[in-house]
Amino acid sequence: MQLNSLVKKSAANLKIDICQITDGNDLVEARKILEQRVKSEYWPQPLTNQNLDELTKPRLQLDNLNSIIVAAISYNNQGGNQYLSNYVTVLDYHNYLENKLEELVNNLKNKIDKDFNYKIFVDTAPFLEREVARKAGVGFIGKNTMLINPNFGSYLFLGEILTDLKIKKDQPLINTCANCKICLENCEGDALKKDYLLAADDCISYLTQKKSLLTEENIKKINNHLWGCDACQEKCPYNKNILTTNNKNLNFFNKNLSYFLNLKRKKIPAELEKTAIVWRGNRILLRNALIVAANLKKEQYFDLIIDKLDDNSPIIRYYAAYALAKINFKRAKKIIKKQLIKEKDQFYQKKITEILEQEAENEA
Ligand code: SF4
Ligand code: SF4
Repeated sequence: MQLNSLVKKSAANLKIDICQITDGNDLVEARKILEQRVKSEYWPQPLTNQNLDELTKPRLQLDNLNSIIVAAISYNNQGGNQYLSNYVTVLDYHNYLENKLEELVNNLKNKIDKDFNYKIFVDTAPFLEREVARKAGVGFIGKNTMLINPNFGSYLFLGEILTDLKIKKDQPLINTCANCKICLENCEGDALKKDYLLAADDCISYLTQKKSLLTEENIKKINNHLWGCDACQEKCPYNKNILTTNNKNLNFFNKNLSYFLNLKRKKIPAELEKTAIVWRGNRILLRNALIVAANLKKEQYFDLIIDKLDDNSPIIRYYAAYALAKINFKRAKKIIKKQLIKEKDQFYQKKITEILEQEAENEA
């Protein structure tokens, strides 16, 4: 059997949904786009690698790189959590996919009876993972910048095996978005500026990971998105009637807002430790939960939030005061004034005073 087919058969046996192969050449087309982007106002993009060589030269990652095996697994669990992006409701996909790729390497070594060099990446590649996947034919890049496969849609986790093995490469898909612009018209953060251009600073997914103080406009955009945002994917026609993952080994969790408002900052619950949601720490999760509660303005969370005024972090104390004021200012006024007297952090003292002034103005 040809090596290309052998790799794919082994991947299918391991329940890897998609497996395609490409070469290790430079990502020439993507480089041209990035060079233009660098000159624009949309650079640098936060939380992303800014080294153009690393982004576009997979060869920097492995000597004698000849082929890249790209694997994708679907995490389409049909959504179901109104606060969380689908991808963070999956437990431990990094380990899961990494183990699968290790297994794939071992199976290949046994089958071809030959040693070879390799390196595995799962969400850690310094190069443009989606572009490598596009080249390999895993999917095409949509106008929302996501990688889309016609059978599985865009809810895909990616992993790569870089190897010095020479394997026949696959061809990119010919699918496109054609005239569709649904994602641009429905972007909740006004972040999709034009086809294929996402301004990360405006994207809700980024805002829920941003550590510095958020503006009123940022907070409004976040709406009920406690972590991530799938709006531009949910509306995409390629995500309608797609295959749902039946992978029993991918565990999903579903938590409500009270669960996050109850988080203790010093202790990450065991079930969260295995998700991508904790990579920015517990404090940001609690901050986001307070923002969502403020946006939802639901009285049921009021008492739970009062407890957060005693948190060690002035940021959490500030957002707790903010949420209380937004939920019921009449009730919150006295509590926040008391809090102001106790507040030792001068910067947040000023910010809490601003809340009182602003809400009093709105009340008048
Ligand atoms: S994730 Fe949300 S804010 Fe970001 S581009 Fe998609 S719809 Fe817009
Ligand atoms: S919503 Fe339409 S334009 Fe956007 S990615 Fe999907 S197919 Fe492309």
